[in-house]
Amino acid sequence: MNLQRFPRYPLAFGPSPIVPLKRLSAHLGGKVDLYAKREDCNSGLAFGGNKTRMLEYLIPEALEQGCDTLVSIGGIQSNQTRQVAAVAAHLGMKRVLVQENWVNYSDAVYDRVGNIQLSRMMGADVRFVSDGFDIGIRKSWQEAMDSVRDAGGKPFPIPAGCSEHPLGGLGFVGFAEEVRQQEAELGFKFDYIVVCSVTGSTQAGMVVGFAADGRACRVIGIDASAKPEQTHEQITRIAKHTAGLVDLGQDITREDVILDTRFGGPEYGLPNEGTLEAIRLCARLEGVLTDPVYEGESMDGMIQMVRNGEFPEGSKVLYAHLGGVPALSAYSSIFRNG
Ligand SMILES: *Cc1c(COP(=O)(O)O)cnc(C)c1O
Repeated sequence: MNLQRFPRYPLAFGPSPIVPLKRLSAHLGGKVDLYAKREDCNSGLAFGGNKTRMLEYLIPEALEQGCDTLVSIGGIQSNQTRQVAAVAAHLGMKRVLVQENWVNYSDAVYDRVGNIQLSRMMGADVRFVSDGFDIGIRKSWQEAMDSVRDAGGKPFPIPAGCSEHPLGGLGFVGFAEEVRQQEAELGFKFDYIVVCSVTGSTQAGMVVGFAADGRACRVIGIDASAKPEQTHEQITRIAKHTAGLVDLGQDITREDVILDTRFGGPEYGLPNEGTLEAIRLCARLEGVLTDPVYEGESMDGMIQMVRNGEFPEGSKVLYAHLGGVPALSAYSSIFRNG
């Protein structure tokens, strides 16, 4: 496998820490050891997150092409657009963000606090459009690109979740490499890796990265899109493409992509009771925060799988905490009583 031939622009602090979730593991019976890899605090650029790791491989292309504006897209409380705004500020580039109406949720301050607040504070040109949730390429995004060109700028497009970008899967191939190095220091290997999936490039990169040591099927995606067929297809497609880029030397098939569809829903961005219980449990036992859109859903999936005895006794499970906490204040009414 050859990831090294792709240039990488450092945006994170370095390897993100792996920490044991001791009290949560004990609470769930102590038969499975849970750990978290903290991508949610991987960078000092506006809290970082999984997109920051992906952007390390996209930014060299933007710089090489002489682009002066990063253009990206997401929901109103998109973590990606906040991370793009931070990276653009860090690099002295302009930033145009298309914020779509992905979530059927309205809190009094939903469009003012959290990610969108931070993006505005970082000087982003924030544009609202009323289109609904879709993980593919959008017209509104093309229009944003054109408007930058019309104004004499040079836009660099960063699609939703970085996922339709050809290099979008590389960051999480690197994640797997990083885990292997950390495993060597820890003196053990993880049996399972749990990850939240929506637009797919996070899990796709992991599947490729962990395929290198035969663990592709140990990556358990928890669907949070509530459109799992589309997400499964997209993860597979990105993984196949990424495997080719890094010369993995083996094909990735649909069967290599494990996507558990039991925990997402009722809709993208809307937590169910299990999600909320998992968010509160992890917060109270560990002081580790997760959000209702993404990480609370994968936390719920992991907790329920432990409770159901789906991991063999003695398993070591790595929860990839991908970020998302800045969105919490947009859900303040749900948590008004804790
Ligand atoms: C984007 C995001 C995800 C989903 O990652 P994909 O690569 O889009 O599947 C999960 N968690 C958080 C916090 C995110 O911002």
